[in-house]
Amino acid sequence: MKLYKAYTRRNIGKIEELSALSSQQLHEIKVVSHVLPFKTNNYVVEELIDWNNFENDPMFILNFPQRDMLKESHFNHLSELIKNKAPKEEIDKYVHHIRLQLNPHPAGQMEHNVPSLNGKKLNGIQHKYRETILFFPSQGQTCHAYCTFCFRWPQFSGMDDMKFGMKQTKLLINYLKQNKDITDILITGGDPLVMKASILAHYIDAIIAADLPQIKTIRIGTKSLSFWPYRFLTDPDSEEILDIFKRVTDAGIHLAIMSHFNHPQELNTDAVVKAVDKIKQTGAQIRTQSPLLHHINDDPAIWSEMWRKQVNLGMIPYYMFIARDTGAHSYFGVNLQNAFNIFQNAYQNVSGICRTVRGPSMSSSPGKIQITGVASIKGEKVYVLNFIQGRVPEWVGQPFFAKYNPDAQWIDDLEPAFGEKEFFYEKEYQRLLKTEKLPETVLITEDLQSA
Ligand SMILES: *Cc1c(COP(=O)(O)O)cnc(C)c1O
Ligand code: SF4
Repeated sequence: MKLYKAYTRRNIGKIEELSALSSQQLHEIKVVSHVLPFKTNNYVVEELIDWNNFENDPMFILNFPQRDMLKESHFNHLSELIKNKAPKEEIDKYVHHIRLQLNPHPAGQMEHNVPSLNGKKLNGIQHKYRETILFFPSQGQTCHAYCTFCFRWPQFSGMDDMKFGMKQTKLLINYLKQNKDITDILITGGDPLVMKASILAHYIDAIIAADLPQIKTIRIGTKSLSFWPYRFLTDPDSEEILDIFKRVTDAGIHLAIMSHFNHPQELNTDAVVKAVDKIKQTGAQIRTQSPLLHHINDDPAIWSEMWRKQVNLGMIPYYMFIARDTGAHSYFGVNLQNAFNIFQNAYQNVSGICRTVRGPSMSSSPGKIQITGVASIKGEKVYVLNFIQGRVPEWVGQPFFAKYNPDAQWIDDLEPAFGEKEFFYEKEYQRLLKTEKLPETVLITEDLQSA
């Protein structure tokens, strides 16, 4: 039995393993953790990180902020302030200044995701793609540890309010009743499995009790298998969690645990192997996803090994994402050409049973855009792109072409090929923006509440 113990900047001194670090290295972690959120725990420290080689260890880099995640000048100035014990307000002010330069709200996150009604923020649901609704239960907006690359860093670092979060299921159920195209509910965070079983049960049982025949799948997005597999083994309410999963599958609803893994090292402990088994016994399936990250997994051999191990354990590879330009992106970013090479090479080296994975994919405002190839067409070198998910369902599965650009990191860096003025979806996308018919975050109106 392992009891969960979190480590943050406040109690970092309690991590005995950190004695392997020089005082300079420890100072660097402390400096950067003023800017980027830092939280790890006793499982990550004791079972995941290889302390004999921590400087290059992907699990160490995944949880412990690194000096190079900040710009040299930012790091140096902040380091001086901290060394000289500058007043807290001065440090906070400089930290805020740095954060503002780390693109805290990429791709219209702020404008399109947090609508308000009569000056009140409406939080807790996103509905961007026709079949699937995202649900952010308010008690699930934190994680068992924080990934240094996470695009939700402004939320975890206290820069933003926990802006998503919903306590009531009534509004969700009413919304589902009015939108019969929705077949999938994706419960997400943060990590919803940080919630107590009793709270998770409150949400899930309400969905089951509503008995909506349209709902075929409940997905739970989580990194617990990687950061705290004891959630399913020895936590006081671990059996209750598994019972909830079982209630979903017993109700004839497909339960998919959307599991976030970044590296095969996360699949090696006894705890994770046992936890996967426990989950599978409930009738749930586990699908896996990860962004592609420089310094952690930008090597095709890592991905093919990860997919193989996942499949051997009974999981289903699902997505490879391209990291968004936010936070420490200069440290983690992989350009589109390299992303495609890594995906293709990894995909070529696994059997068809692992090729359920899709990617590399950019989650952009119009949709999830996959790079399906680099080709030469009538003498022009192009990226072949494809929506694997779109705001407009008709966009999905239509190949389109962008001028080759070896430095491009994101769809915004690309231009249409063949001298065209815009990509095929842009007119409609712009029209949707203007008419604010962006079905991204749902307006919860009085009307809906009483429906
Ligand atoms: C990825 C995503 C989904 C799920 O899409 P699938 O193609 O069904 O996996 C739903 N909503 C949002 C906002 C997403 O980014
Ligand atoms: S587990 Fe997910 S939400 Fe939590 S810090 Fe990591 S990437 Fe972000």
